[in-house]
Amino acid sequence: MAQIYDRVALIGLGLIASSMFWAMKRAGSANHVSGYARSAETRETARKIGLCDSVHDDILDAVAGADLVVLCVPIGVMGSVMEQIAGVLKPGATVTDVGSVKRDVIENVAPHVPEGVHFIAGHPLAGTEHSGPRSGFAELFDSRWCLLVPPEGADPVAVQRLQQFWESLGSNVEQMDADHHDLVVAVTSHAPHLIAYTMVGVADDLRRVTDSEVIKYSAGGFRDFTRIAASDPTMWRDVFLTNKDATLEILGRFTEELFALQRAIRQGDGDFLHDYFTRTRAIRRGIIEAGQDTDAPDFGRKKS
Ligand code: NAP
Repeated sequence: MAQIYDRVALIGLGLIASSMFWAMKRAGSANHVSGYARSAETRETARKIGLCDSVHDDILDAVAGADLVVLCVPIGVMGSVMEQIAGVLKPGATVTDVGSVKRDVIENVAPHVPEGVHFIAGHPLAGTEHSGPRSGFAELFDSRWCLLVPPEGADPVAVQRLQQFWESLGSNVEQMDADHHDLVVAVTSHAPHLIAYTMVGVADDLRRVTDSEVIKYSAGGFRDFTRIAASDPTMWRDVFLTNKDATLEILGRFTEELFALQRAIRQGDGDFLHDYFTRTRAIRRGIIEAGQDTDAPDFGRKKS
């Protein structure tokens, strides 16, 4: 795969940025990748493990001269980071982000984007429950979708180039408007995370089942909830604070369905339950057929 940008700057050096770096190295998508992280500890780790071609103590040094700047920080600070770097951006450069919510990020970042710089919001639909500079790996984006949200009147050449960049990291790319994006991820990611957090919280509160029993007998579905509920607290706090409307809409529907299932259980309505579970099983099959998960038993987990 050919080089797409000469210089790329990664701001924030956690799971997503480090995965982007290793995927860029695998593909040769950039000539030079500079990096900046807020804490000296993260910058030190990055230097130690060879994450980025250059790691900078000053955010402005990391960004100066970059053709592509990727904001890989929590959603809640995207706007202030953009404000900080606006003055040193190279004319004609592209700024993008990887935040899990798009309307809020665009509203906070776009006002600080200087004339002559392209801002094209983005969101790779790929992640794990791990965070930090050591958690990334080159394959994270392989065959996963990356959604781009270009503003109205965006430069088609800049959008096309960013699309090629994400494709070089292994992603499939599609464009979407911000509100639709936020609703889609509320269904596929945000509400499921909240439900997992709730289920694990319930088990924690329910002292009739001891903690050791919860851990020991966790194979029965609970284990998958615990994996999701181990996700980064800062990131997920920001997701729910910024994708409020779409998440509340989906949770409202979820609650209605839960009541319907509760009634079916109480009334012994086996047909209702069986029909419901038949419909949901078909969705699982669709995800596997679309190449978005493995059909290996137990999600392909290896037994240690
Ligand atoms: P992460 O591993 O926790 O890394 C976050 C990075 O942002 C760290 O380098 C951190 O610096 C830096 N940072 C935190 N607060 C900051 C602040 N106030 N100012 C400047 N830098 C700050 O997070 P991640 O999982 O890569 O997530 C980054 C973005 O990707 C988020 O917007 C998230 O919504 C999005 N995203 C995440 C996933 C996922 O599954 N994790 C998937 C898709 C998109 P220090 O290390 O110095 O604290």
